[in-house]
Amino acid sequence: MKHDREFDPNYGLATEVADGIRRLTANNPSPFTFHGTNTYLVGQKSVVVIDPGPADAQHLEAILTATKGQTVEAIVVSHTHVDHSPGAALLKERTGAPVIGCTPHRPARALVDGEINALDASGDKAFRADRELENGTVARFGEFSLEAIATPGHTENHLCFALEGSAYLFSADHVMAWSTSIVAPPDGNMRAYMVSLDKMLERSETIYFPGHGGPVGDAATYVGDLKHHRLQREAAILARLGSEPISIPELVDAIYEGLPPMLKPAAALSVFAQLEDLVDRRLAKADPVIGLNAFYTR
Ligand SMILES: [Zn+2]
Repeated sequence: MKHDREFDPNYGLATEVADGIRRLTANNPSPFTFHGTNTYLVGQKSVVVIDPGPADAQHLEAILTATKGQTVEAIVVSHTHVDHSPGAALLKERTGAPVIGCTPHRPARALVDGEINALDASGDKAFRADRELENGTVARFGEFSLEAIATPGHTENHLCFALEGSAYLFSADHVMAWSTSIVAPPDGNMRAYMVSLDKMLERSETIYFPGHGGPVGDAATYVGDLKHHRLQREAAILARLGSEPISIPELVDAIYEGLPPMLKPAAALSVFAQLEDLVDRRLAKADPVIGLNAFYTR
């Protein structure tokens, strides 16, 4: 599938991406955050800050500078990963604006015996919203409204936000142009992620502003491609499962050709997510129990 990696982070400076919508990228680049986390500033006189980003003093100052002369009306958070939500408490301290959005961090399922949660370090367990938004809840602000769309998969508590009466949707880490999303158990869940992709296809917004990288244009086509890509991955895994037990690292080497070694742990988590779904659907078996270090057969 084709990804769009064209992006200028323009660190420290807010860039207008649509009328009344500015993007401010935090300087936290990594293989998983691309050039860094995108914070969106929505509104003219008063402004709503979507995903204030990591606990980063420089980024916090950049948000305050960009919103000088405006009232920060609310801080909206999509999900509890350390690159998205910790800035909320810091920005609230400086502006007094309420934090609204996702529920506290929680994995999609409990750990099984002997399993290590590889994503533990990326979860922001301290996050608490002043007001939690449920699926379909419309948060009304002075100049516009945002509809919360529950999109579990990347994390259990993930929300996207549609800007009412517009073609725009803030897709956070659910749909991104530069890469596929990480869906890794036990924080993430592949079945839920696929259902959440379908949910996007029922919507009318055509342009998405993601948590990392540039916008997604022609969103429906792109979401369709993402679905197709995951189904192809699933087929590739199924094709390699037989009566002979196979490990996740072996599956990664067989399926992801030429993958840089630094991205192999992420690929392993992705394959694990697919296998978890296949085991649930009785299309695969795990020995001894579902986990990163288990062996898999048909
Ligand atoms: Zn995330």
